[in-house]
Amino acid sequence: MQTSFLRPTYIEIDQQAIYHNVFETAKRLHDDAELFAVVKADAYGHGLVPVARVCREAGATGFCVATIDEAMALRSAQITEPILVLGISSPQTVAIAAAQHISLTFGDLDWLKEATRYLEQTANLPALNLHVALDTGMGRIGFTDQNQLATAVTQLRQSKEFNFEGIFTHFSTADERETTYFEQQLAKFNAMMSVVGERPHYVHVANSATSLWHQVCHANMIRFGIGIYGLNPSGNQLQLPYELEPALSLYSELVFVKHVQAGTAISYGATYHATQDEWIGTIPIGYADGWLRRLSGMPVLINGQRCPIVGRVCMDQIMVRLPEQLAVGTKVTLIGRDGVDEITAQEVAEYSQTIHYEITCGLQDRIPRHYLPKREELD
Ligand SMILES: *Cc1c(COP(=O)(O)O)cnc(C)c1O
Repeated sequence: MQTSFLRPTYIEIDQQAIYHNVFETAKRLHDDAELFAVVKADAYGHGLVPVARVCREAGATGFCVATIDEAMALRSAQITEPILVLGISSPQTVAIAAAQHISLTFGDLDWLKEATRYLEQTANLPALNLHVALDTGMGRIGFTDQNQLATAVTQLRQSKEFNFEGIFTHFSTADERETTYFEQQLAKFNAMMSVVGERPHYVHVANSATSLWHQVCHANMIRFGIGIYGLNPSGNQLQLPYELEPALSLYSELVFVKHVQAGTAISYGATYHATQDEWIGTIPIGYADGWLRRLSGMPVLINGQRCPIVGRVCMDQIMVRLPEQLAVGTKVTLIGRDGVDEITAQEVAEYSQTIHYEITCGLQDRIPRHYLPKREELD
């Protein structure tokens, strides 16, 4: 979508918060463990390249993305650290990945066979770095069978097209208080690792939740995602062991203010009627920006006061009920702090019955991102 710089709706990204979150996490890792910053989906809506740069300064030694295109965007921005594509890439794309030193994930023997076929058709490429995915209970991608895993590892070690760089799994319940399923997955992981023999360079099992709430030995890299952005992976279920600072705020301003009489209908479907004489403000953001249609009724902050969205959320605009007459141009906080009050991505997620991941990822590139400098850059 066309980024709309000239509209007064913008996202503010606090680079100091990102630095803090990554630095505080990296310093708690044991000495030979590394933090890879998960910056897929445009860094969860925070902006791929600027976030990657701050993470690198704060101690991240590699990156994880979801697609080869995301990895290539990092390479184009002179990010030279290891980059792992977490999802399954088409075997047809292996030459591109090898040429750009992008590490790929696979989880079955067929993929390996296809990838070999494509790489054999090329010449003078560096070996393709591969990470083996183990499905220990997530049910998404990866080997479940020890024999097939053993075959894959042998094939990797014998091939000159590939470098067996890593092996990993992913936990589906690491953000929950109940740990039985987590422990079953861990036991399955250890059982599968027993057929691997010599360990590859990276053994990794932890997303943010696992790194925050579980001690997992024998791994030497974490895939730190949501924590970078200062959001609690569990929502509010589990308490953070150390403070993370939310990095994203969303602001706009009133572009139209009117006084209406009791009974006046607002927005599509005329579902809202003013109950008395009211001041109504219009804000230029809507569901096309990722401000979901089901956020009707959710408050925004104006002058430190909560003002509810009245009537339906439109594609590009919302209406709110104001406590009094306010000037066009008055600042509106949709996510973030205003005075003593704060609306968090978690609150928006709860209101719309989803998780904060989906809220920040869903904020469209129609909204420009502004980056607040790190503190030392302010001195
Ligand atoms: C997205 C993803 C992560 C990061 O998860 P967070 O909960 O954001 O920390 C880690 N590992 C894999 C395999 C992922 O797909």
